[in-house]
Amino acid sequence: MIADLLGRADTYEFNRLLHEHTSYSQVGVFPDFGQSSYTRCNYQDSETRFETESQRVGICIDCVKEDIESLGFPYWRRDHRYVEVCAKHNTILLRQCPICRHDIRYHRQGYGHDLLWVGCKGSYVHQCEPTKNPHEYKLTFARIFAEIGESKFAVDLESVIEHLAGQANKMALEGSISEEELMAINWRLKNSKGITDTWLKYRPDDRYSHNIIEVIAMLYGSFAALLDSLRQTDKLVRNIDDLMRVEYQDRY
Ligand SMILES: [Zn+2]
Ligand SMILES: [Zn+2]
Repeated sequence: MIADLLGRADTYEFNRLLHEHTSYSQVGVFPDFGQSSYTRCNYQDSETRFETESQRVGICIDCVKEDIESLGFPYWRRDHRYVEVCAKHNTILLRQCPICRHDIRYHRQGYGHDLLWVGCKGSYVHQCEPTKNPHEYKLTFARIFAEIGESKFAVDLESVIEHLAGQANKMALEGSISEEELMAINWRLKNSKGITDTWLKYRPDDRYSHNIIEVIAMLYGSFAALLDSLRQTDKLVRNIDDLMRVEYQDRY
């Protein structure tokens, strides 16, 4: 098991590893009602997670340039696999090699992971020009994705969905969103309930996360603003650290 090799075999350390280095954080932040552990299942099968995550890649040329200036070498970022723009630079993420235009996943061996370090045809990624994203909603989406991935807090999925639905209704009554927008939000919230069925092999491209993030973006603009609003209600915002200390117990 990878966690054993890295010396992080205990529950807390393993969950920290999941939270900081895999996209499981996108669902770990939304536990089920009454769930006291960070994960929704045992993690015996965890190596599959780490493996499947590496098969998708996205490159921000500005991040690569910064890495080379500050560290001397670039590294891959977890979130760039699942969003369209870099949350830090608002740069459009590359799925194709900027030099030969090949899909990065099939760029030589190892899902193209060597592209950052060895370049292509004698050129390097950091020598290419980045393209800025003109769409505000794509940047908001990427920022919320990053906020959830780094969140120190968790809130029950059921409570979040109920809270978001309440806010959407309120805004519709006030006329700040249209009936069509309200219907679209409710449809997305219904899909978000699928997060409950996620096991460790979950990936955000399974779309549940996309739905809930889009609703948070439309109603609050940031995950922090949603948390602030939840704190003003009776809905429980928990420390993610507390969940990470608890080993998963089969409840059935
Ligand atoms: Zn970047
Ligand atoms: Zn290439």
